[in-house]
Amino acid sequence: MYDKFQKYLTQQIEEIKISGTYKNERILVSPQFSEIKINTGKEVLNFCANNYLGLANNKELVKAATKCLEERAYGMASVRFICGTSDLHKELETKIAHFFGTEDSILYAACFDANGGVFEPLLTEDDAIISDALNHASIIDGVRLCKAQRFRYANADMKDLEKQLQDAQSCRFRLVVTDGVFSMDGNVAPMQEILTLAAKYDAMVMVDESHSAGVVGKTGRGVTELHNCRGKVEIITGTLGKAFGGAIGGFTTGKKEIIEMLRQRSRPYLFSNSIPPMVAAAGIRMFEMMDETNQLQDKLHANTDYFISKMKAAGFDIKPTQSAICAVMLYDATLAGKFADKLLEEGIYVIGFSYPVVPKDQARIRVQLSAAHETEQLDKAIHAFIKVGKELNILK
Ligand SMILES: *Cc1c(COP(=O)(O)O)cnc(C)c1O
Repeated sequence: MYDKFQKYLTQQIEEIKISGTYKNERILVSPQFSEIKINTGKEVLNFCANNYLGLANNKELVKAATKCLEERAYGMASVRFICGTSDLHKELETKIAHFFGTEDSILYAACFDANGGVFEPLLTEDDAIISDALNHASIIDGVRLCKAQRFRYANADMKDLEKQLQDAQSCRFRLVVTDGVFSMDGNVAPMQEILTLAAKYDAMVMVDESHSAGVVGKTGRGVTELHNCRGKVEIITGTLGKAFGGAIGGFTTGKKEIIEMLRQRSRPYLFSNSIPPMVAAAGIRMFEMMDETNQLQDKLHANTDYFISKMKAAGFDIKPTQSAICAVMLYDATLAGKFADKLLEEGIYVIGFSYPVVPKDQARIRVQLSAAHETEQLDKAIHAFIKVGKELNILK
């Protein structure tokens, strides 16, 4: 049997390679930071991590995790409801709710699990989920696992959302679901308009703050802060794997009855191990830091403004963004790949994205800014972009 299957897989993999979407992994041999070392020995400036606040190797967090590792050892070896709940998990859940201005929270091994386990326990075939077309894969998978009727609206298109809400009026409950920041363009969900339509058509709202928590809003509280609607959405999901330290862990936070039901019925929570105590301890320290100072957010916002204004002044075509994601539009897939390769030669690590990750003829280089970047590093990247842009005849 395996002979046939092996042949089948080999062929499929070959097709992935031919289509140009085969993913090779670059191997880091240093901590995750603004400057990284790869296994070829090359040191490069990193503009493609989700390390928005530079917390992936923050000394305070390493100290909190190390101390906890010594005191509480390595793992929990249990799901939460058997013997896998520690005081640290409870404290972290409280801290997450405090950060977002919500009532309660529940931890998962990852946000992929939070999204995978949020719909099925709450909604049935009598209900409707109305989802943005560009929502993250984990939301799409979570919706698939739920029996609710599915409605889809074009990205951030409020006319289309209104139409879908009208079509869903005969359902018992309606839930509108959106990413906070859409990761390919960096645009932010129009939360005020979504909430207005939700009120008009009697729907609840869920937002995934994975790319926005810690990042957008004056104090980094995410899109509900940016759009002035803290405490107004029923469900927020997010990750501890991006701005919040980049280790592992996800969460759902919101109305307390919703969280209570998830604790009873959410399958990735009930049937998967609880996060290591050291990760919880570092998470607690991280949320304390978020309360103590706004320095990292201020630096991230300043870095983002600086980079984008210099790139625009140089003549690059930048997608409108309200986050720390900056899409440098090149449109042509081959060109985007070549541009990224040449930037790596210049010591700048970025990724070119093309179809099917973004629409056809919308190829781009995605730059992710971080509070860890120093101005000289931003300047080095901007100079490299300009140099390569001239070599490839994108800039005059
Ligand atoms: C990264 C991301 C996730 C997955 O988070 P993990 O904790 O890494 O599983 C989910 N949703 C969105 C919008 C994301 O960007």
